[in-house]
Amino acid sequence: MHDDAPLVQMRINRFVTERLQPAIIRASVAVDIQRWEAPGEPVSFAHAVAQPFEPVEAGYAWGKPWGTTWFKVAGTLPAEWADAADARVQLVVDLGFDSAQPGFQSEGLVFSASGSIIKAVEPLNTGVPLTAAPGDAFEFYIEAASNPDLSQAWTFAPTPMGARETAGDGPLYRLAGMVVALRDNTVWSLAQDFWTLHGLYAELPAHLPRKAEILRALDLAIDAVDPQDVAGTAQAGRDLLAPAFAAPAWQSSHRVHAVGHAHIDSAWLWPLRETVRKVARTFANVDALIEQNPDFVFAASSAQQFAWLKEHYPDLFDRVRRRVAEGSFVPVGGMWVESDSNLPGGEALARQFVAGKRFFMEEFGVEPLEVWLPDSFGYSGALPQIARAAGSRWFLTQKISWNETNVMPHHTFQWEGIDGTRIFTHFPPVDTYSSELSGSDLARAERQYSEKGVANTSLVPFGWGDGGGGPTEEMIAAARRTASLEGSPTVLLSSPRGFFEAAEAEYPQPPVWSGELYLEFHRGTYTSQARTKRGNRRSEHLLREAELWATTAAVRGAADYPYAALEQAWHTVLLLQFHDILPGSSIAWVHREAELRYEEVRVTLEQIIDRSVRALAGDGTRTLALNSGPFDRAGVPALGAGELTAGRAAATVSRTAEGIVLQNDRLRATLDADGLLVSLRDLVTGRESIPTGQPSKVLQLFRDTPRQWDAWDIDADYVRTMTELRVADSVEICESGSERVAVRIIRRFGSSTVEETVSLSSGERALDVELAIDWHERQKLLKLAFPIDVQAAQAASEIQFGHILRPTHSNTSWDAARFETVAHRWVHVGEPGYGVAVANDSTYGHDIRRTGEGRSTTVRLSLLRAPLYPDPESDQGEHRMRVAIAPGAGIPEAVEEGYRLNLPLRPVEGVGVEHIAPLVRVDGAGVVVEAVKLAEDQSGDVIVRLYEAHGGRAAATLSADFDATDAVLTDLLERPTVSPETLLAPSADRSWRLELRPFQLVTIRFRR
Ligand SMILES: [Zn+2]
Repeated sequence: MHDDAPLVQMRINRFVTERLQPAIIRASVAVDIQRWEAPGEPVSFAHAVAQPFEPVEAGYAWGKPWGTTWFKVAGTLPAEWADAADARVQLVVDLGFDSAQPGFQSEGLVFSASGSIIKAVEPLNTGVPLTAAPGDAFEFYIEAASNPDLSQAWTFAPTPMGARETAGDGPLYRLAGMVVALRDNTVWSLAQDFWTLHGLYAELPAHLPRKAEILRALDLAIDAVDPQDVAGTAQAGRDLLAPAFAAPAWQSSHRVHAVGHAHIDSAWLWPLRETVRKVARTFANVDALIEQNPDFVFAASSAQQFAWLKEHYPDLFDRVRRRVAEGSFVPVGGMWVESDSNLPGGEALARQFVAGKRFFMEEFGVEPLEVWLPDSFGYSGALPQIARAAGSRWFLTQKISWNETNVMPHHTFQWEGIDGTRIFTHFPPVDTYSSELSGSDLARAERQYSEKGVANTSLVPFGWGDGGGGPTEEMIAAARRTASLEGSPTVLLSSPRGFFEAAEAEYPQPPVWSGELYLEFHRGTYTSQARTKRGNRRSEHLLREAELWATTAAVRGAADYPYAALEQAWHTVLLLQFHDILPGSSIAWVHREAELRYEEVRVTLEQIIDRSVRALAGDGTRTLALNSGPFDRAGVPALGAGELTAGRAAATVSRTAEGIVLQNDRLRATLDADGLLVSLRDLVTGRESIPTGQPSKVLQLFRDTPRQWDAWDIDADYVRTMTELRVADSVEICESGSERVAVRIIRRFGSSTVEETVSLSSGERALDVELAIDWHERQKLLKLAFPIDVQAAQAASEIQFGHILRPTHSNTSWDAARFETVAHRWVHVGEPGYGVAVANDSTYGHDIRRTGEGRSTTVRLSLLRAPLYPDPESDQGEHRMRVAIAPGAGIPEAVEEGYRLNLPLRPVEGVGVEHIAPLVRVDGAGVVVEAVKLAEDQSGDVIVRLYEAHGGRAAATLSADFDATDAVLTDLLERPTVSPETLLAPSADRSWRLELRPFQLVTIRFRR
């Protein structure tokens, strides 16, 4: 037989686009359209419908960037359609959609004349069901958002469209048309048949008889369909395809659990307020789709998005609540948002689960057990323990498939965190979280799935995200056609839980991946938008302080606990940890709003701290130092307040032949004529920390022009364009009191200025560097380098509730790809018996590599970037940050330095007491208190969260200075970890013993 396959494919393509698709709409009639444009931000339905509307026609140019136009649509269902069989009447709306991608352009929400939400219209989901009887009139309102497409086909070109003030006001869209249409169900079904079979055909190997069989069936089906009467002959075409669909799947076919989903970024290339509407549009579509397909399950993460729906669309929220009760709408993830997991601090990442699960349990009575983070930029080695401590059982992501260098060897595995906790994990091999269940998607899932031979099940999330409207009836049709289809993976409409239970059952001993899931991509997200990063770090520590003092005041009867204000502050901070906000990859609008929200949080928390302490300490003339940190400092107990003890050896500063010398009883630092750190001598051991001939504390400037994804990426080639900013414009001693001495150094370069204040305080083991940077560079990366005279094989970097060890070499492709890494408050490099810690108060990006021919180690902090996309003004302006270098530090000292820099003693003047006793004391090396708060259930019980911070075994005694009756081990949600409750054994009155494993996280509820 002659091979005519290429010719038949051409025939199929032309038949589908020219005959089949146009015949889906059997008949249509025009409607009357009027419009009213909201002058500014979105308005309510009631407000909009009271406005004067004006008639418009198809072709009308509408929609300024970020604007809202309301369309009033009126029409009549043709009476002659009364006896149209096998058809559906619907309004078809085209706001001027383009085919680039759904979700990044205009969208509309359709309301009935009385204001109830019907569904949304999106580029690939344009139909609205019409329930009026033939001959009857109908009227709808459409709230249409004219969002600019900031994706710009992923050219990453700078654009002013990301802020209202710079986006202009010209119309972005041209109304393509709205009609009342009679959709032919059989023609539509035939189109779905062709799509699935032709998609499968494209994926099958050439030699298979099945492949030829499908092509021949499609060819003959075209013969059967009369191009002059597609509707009248479509069934004949379907009949000819029926045998091809009747052939069942091979027994060994890959098994796909298809879960409806819409990945809605909580803000990104649009502002937060637009996400509120995107959620309503998508969830309305899902509700309508479930109505038609009761066996379809939709999974949605992010309690915040449900909370928005509850606040802004209460009726739609009630409909969702009913779907959740039915089991067709499944909350997943259990977190407040799909947060970044590299940058949030330990307590904050824990609270993502506490706040998220509380919302889902209170509103719906369900507890999501699967962590759902398909898109975050790498996964912290602390996450398995945090997820399990929150009661979760499973973890899902697919982002690691974006690695530039290495391919993860597993799709289903046990992921083991730094403390040894394991969680059953799945990476959907389909490599997308917005599949359309096409032949190519399904084949990719099967082809790439790496557990073949021992397991054979994967999850495919399907549905358009980001305002594309979620799953469509076309996708469901594809799922039904591939339930059992020879040559295709089998597709089961399922839920995340259904998948995980099946996957665990078939694969009880999956392989183990230990440590972080480092994303070999998007390494700039540890640094971009420094003010957002600083806002997060400062807010996390203010929350700790506010909860500690509010708890102390409440337990001592001095003040009520501000539950609502604290919850609101937490919700804001948790929202801003969303995986495109805290990482710095959103438009200008989002980041400017984040900065304002962080300022509001700061004001609220400062008030709570002040009010609590005033209530505890009364008025007077004393000055107290509050120590919110977990370590005693300068005579002030951890978690308490007291007066500073005098008598520490004074710090001194002097000019010598070597340079300016800052000294106390623990270290001696020498700055050269340009203010570079040329010596840092540990006076306890006498050891020098700066390598000979390699000045330290050097600002370095690099070209920062990544290949793609500008705000996201730092490319490895950045290192080749270094300029060291060694020259100072001025170096002067600016403080010489006995408590603190300081030197101010000013450096000007390009259009920017850096003012460094290098200071040493009496009794401290670290040299502090405060940086005030006026930054006006573009596409540059600013790093601060500390060459250190230790030969470190690995570096320790603080993450949530512990630290992670990473090699300082680049032996393997995995090591080499990890050229920029994340750390929280400190990093540490050392040799046995000696080390140096570098701490910071608001930055995250680091690189730590061997230098000096391998005999020294350089710690570099990434301070600032200035990518031009998606925010062309990112990082411009003023920044303040603090860094400290502590010679002679082990891991315990590094941990202390991290807390010291981030939780400085807080002076309070005009109070009437000498001290405030800590509510809780913990005696035991390595056991660190991370949070003290009142219980979420408002019972008044005190919750203390602590962890082992050194990476070793620890024993501690906890003492409560309040009316605690017993102490119960709980999970993060403050529920007893096992039943019967695990009571801690008391060792004395109000005192308990506790033993911890390395990095173990423990939550204790003190009942009162
Ligand atoms: Zn995302």
